[in-house]
Amino acid sequence: MTDRIDAITLRLIESRIRNARSHGSGAISRAVRRVIVTIATADGLTGWGEAAPWAPFGNIAETTLAALDSALRPVLLGTDPAAITARMVDCAHAVAFHPEAKSAVEMALWDIAGQRADAPVHALLGGAVRDTIPLSFSIADPDFDADLARARAMFAQGHRILKVKTGFSGHAEDMRRLTALRDALPGLDLRVDYNQGLDPFDALVRLRDIERLRPTFIEQPLPRGQERAMAGLAAALDTPIMADESVYDAAEMLRAARDGIADCVSIKLGKCGGIGPARALDAVAAAAGWPTYGGTLWEGGIALAAAAHVLSTLPNMTLGCEFYMPSYGLEHDVVGDVLRAGGGFVRVPDGSGLGIMIDEAALEAQTVAIV
Ligand code: MG
Repeated sequence: MTDRIDAITLRLIESRIRNARSHGSGAISRAVRRVIVTIATADGLTGWGEAAPWAPFGNIAETTLAALDSALRPVLLGTDPAAITARMVDCAHAVAFHPEAKSAVEMALWDIAGQRADAPVHALLGGAVRDTIPLSFSIADPDFDADLARARAMFAQGHRILKVKTGFSGHAEDMRRLTALRDALPGLDLRVDYNQGLDPFDALVRLRDIERLRPTFIEQPLPRGQERAMAGLAAALDTPIMADESVYDAAEMLRAARDGIADCVSIKLGKCGGIGPARALDAVAAAAGWPTYGGTLWEGGIALAAAAHVLSTLPNMTLGCEFYMPSYGLEHDVVGDVLRAGGGFVRVPDGSGLGIMIDEAALEAQTVAIV
């Protein structure tokens, strides 16, 4: 007997963050808006999805909500939730782009499939190759002293990966912050993310300085659209370049590898369009010899659980993840902390489906609108 999608509830929520954050493009001062998707089936199953768009990547929560409401819900209602590939083909035909919205739908369908099979999503994807994923924490507080104290405390608890957001406060200040962390925390796996914050004109001069601090990689130094200049930097520097804003999905990964614009790539479900597209992106990256990394927009525990399930199945995903929002970023998420971050790792959830537990009171308190 095939099941049927009976109802789709879309919630626009607003969640407070613990501290302000600055980036080479985009700043967050107080709260993030997300969309929580609930898909209910005739058999009584409920799947959860989450979209956490970030404006520098092209959508905000309200545009994602509109795409889900007007374009995706009509093609999903009344259909079989188990036919996930067919559902996502329908979604692709319903509206172009909007990877955050499609990803939220797809993870809800996988959640339903896992619950039906009474198996974690990673088991349905062929099984995990790792139970934990190394966790990177992003240093992005405009008050660097607060971040340095945070970094020391996390290091003492076993965290070894920090990613410093650069390109928003001048080159001298970037060097000062990176040097302070290098000096304070010996053995640190230090990474740098410009979030498109440099200009092609003088990027190489600055990055030659940065390179002296031996970062593991330098992420997205130039704006999306400046891929020729990115290729020049990748060729000139010894330090690997990571593509983030320049590579959303498998097709862009193929071009990026052909043009040599970087050496590794950040996978985000909300950027590529979901679990299936993430696997495709990783496959192309692996063929190109590029290791992958689990990035985020502003996702909480629902979307990051989905990401942990798929990334745990990818042998090529060797650079860790930044899935720290539920534990160290949001004041209060709408799910319990299923990733149980601590000691420098997140744990891959093992319950059926996405393996999440909704905090109904928190969800209610943070809801701005229900569509
Ligand atoms: Mg990035």
